[in-house]
Amino acid sequence: MSEINVQLNEGASAQLAAPVTVAEALKKLDRDAAKQALAARVNGREVDLGYTLTGQENGEPVKIEPVLPQTLEGLDVLRHSTAHLLAAAVLDLFPGTKLGIGPALLDDPRYGFFYDVIAPRPLTVEDLPVIEKRMRDIAKRNLAYRRDEIQKADALKIFSERDEPLKCELIDEKAGERVSVYYIDGSPFIDFCLGPHVPNTNKLRAFKLLSLAGAYWKGDAERPQMQRIYGTAFFTQEELDAWIKRREEAERRDHRRLGRELDLFSIQEQYGAGLIFWHPKGGIIRKMMEDYLYEELNKRAYSFVYTPHIARRELWQISGHEQNYGDSMFAPTKLEETEFRLKPMNCPFHIGIYKSQQRSYRDLPQRYAEMGTVYRAELSGTLHGLMRVRGFTVDDAHLFCTPDQVRKEISDCVDFVVAVLKTFGFEKVKFELSVKGNETNKNYLGTDEEWAKAESQLAGVLEEHGVEYERIEGEGAFYGPKIDFKIEDAIGRLWQLGTVQWDFNLPERFELEYIGEDNRPHRPVMVHRALFGSIERFFGVLIEHYAGAFPLWLAPVQAVVLPITDRVNDYAESVAQELREAGLRVETNLRSEKIGAKIRDAQLQKIPFMLVLGDREMEEGKVAVRERTKGDIGTMTLAEFKEKARELVRTRAITNQ
Ligand SMILES: [Zn+2]
Ligand SMILES: [Zn+2]
Repeated sequence: MSEINVQLNEGASAQLAAPVTVAEALKKLDRDAAKQALAARVNGREVDLGYTLTGQENGEPVKIEPVLPQTLEGLDVLRHSTAHLLAAAVLDLFPGTKLGIGPALLDDPRYGFFYDVIAPRPLTVEDLPVIEKRMRDIAKRNLAYRRDEIQKADALKIFSERDEPLKCELIDEKAGERVSVYYIDGSPFIDFCLGPHVPNTNKLRAFKLLSLAGAYWKGDAERPQMQRIYGTAFFTQEELDAWIKRREEAERRDHRRLGRELDLFSIQEQYGAGLIFWHPKGGIIRKMMEDYLYEELNKRAYSFVYTPHIARRELWQISGHEQNYGDSMFAPTKLEETEFRLKPMNCPFHIGIYKSQQRSYRDLPQRYAEMGTVYRAELSGTLHGLMRVRGFTVDDAHLFCTPDQVRKEISDCVDFVVAVLKTFGFEKVKFELSVKGNETNKNYLGTDEEWAKAESQLAGVLEEHGVEYERIEGEGAFYGPKIDFKIEDAIGRLWQLGTVQWDFNLPERFELEYIGEDNRPHRPVMVHRALFGSIERFFGVLIEHYAGAFPLWLAPVQAVVLPITDRVNDYAESVAQELREAGLRVETNLRSEKIGAKIRDAQLQKIPFMLVLGDREMEEGKVAVRERTKGDIGTMTLAEFKEKARELVRTRAITNQ
């Protein structure tokens, strides 16, 4: 018997008699880690705990590292092993089922693994709990995951005897001379798989099957139609429960569903995918967003411009959009020998306004803002509600300034971002500074010196503001470094919004100039900035953040007047009219329904205030006020309510406190 020297990471080592399994070696090195481990890495290679160590190379100790719970690698092993458990349960319940593939999913927010199957009869969602129950039964029996290495011919024989043509196809394509197969001992399941897996089914405790979908073998519609069973798995039941809750919460907030239920917007296939219709209730929210933005732009001495939606093709060649961005642009259209293209960005148009006259250093900075609608040729498979569309409006601005002014301009942009997002209820803004980095495969414009100077100024601005930021190497635009920002929503999801970008490129390409104090022409610096990015997308984020229950200043209907009896209908109308004249958006519900039904309806529409009126309120000139989340908040005079509501709107309050 030979000896083998094993070492835990860079830590403890031991001399053991070989051969020895990884599990036994780990036990000698670290009892705790051995108990917890799901698999291990031996000299960097992932293996099962049952893997046998036979000797060491070059006299170096064999390095062992446990794959532990609460790591991404651990999750991969856990979910992948759970997919095997799922296949075992399906085979157990439905003998004759043919198996496809069953990978772990780590980046998918909805699922943690799947297995593709063709069962003897089509499965239905009613089968899922039954299959899940069988998975639990198998897990409890603490069956071993056992690996075997066999000749390719033998593997093909095993799987063809089991009538698994798809597995045979995979082995034919992928396997070398020796084939790694896995059993769950005591179950009917064998898989062609490289592993690693957990040592036994007892390690799988927190899993859930989630849904059933159609799938094609290898995604090919010509090949057999399969069914994909989706599930997820976590290390503990607590984690699984928390994840299920978050998933339900995300579904409850889905902007596509709420957009329909609250009649905010639609997308209509017969007009074209990815094109947004803002309905009256969504339209008024957009109007409020834009009005607010104009107010803020005015305070910050921006000017407002409007520009066309298409331009001559040559313009997009001068700007470089056609060369660098052509795939995202709609194809050219021709009129009287001139080709035009729809705009994917607003920048060249604002340059046109800058260039329309000679500028002096005294005219700078020029700050042009526009709600600029742009069009992008996104593929239909990538479209998603308001989040990814083909036509959207950017709250765009371009700042033209002298090199001395640019730092202050960018600093003001950062202030602007923080102030605006706070008004919409986003206190946490995360900044990312994207810089050139060392990779040279990108065609960066501008000299190293220019980049270094611009990057240090942007970093300086972020540090001055004391905001949280991350520096990202190699993610700068080809024309200059940029600051991107993200917000965290009510359920902790991060959303990428707008950007502040320093541009070395367009002022050169368009030969922009200003006359300096020295009476000579100079190149201005151009800054691109957008706060929301896309108004459509930001609206989608707002809908999900507030789950459709918007703050009063944004709510499409701010109050609904609900008479208890027809006798007070006239009073209800006069209350509504008085509030409208005070600038509030108010509806009445005069239908002959029970007051409870009217309140429920208003509640479903997420209307912030309900004014309930009976004989007494009419006699006293009062309103009984219900607030959307707090319920009854008491009776007050109409003047008092009006004052309260107007104050909440004026201050753009987030809650109706
Ligand atoms: Zn596997
Ligand atoms: Zn721009």
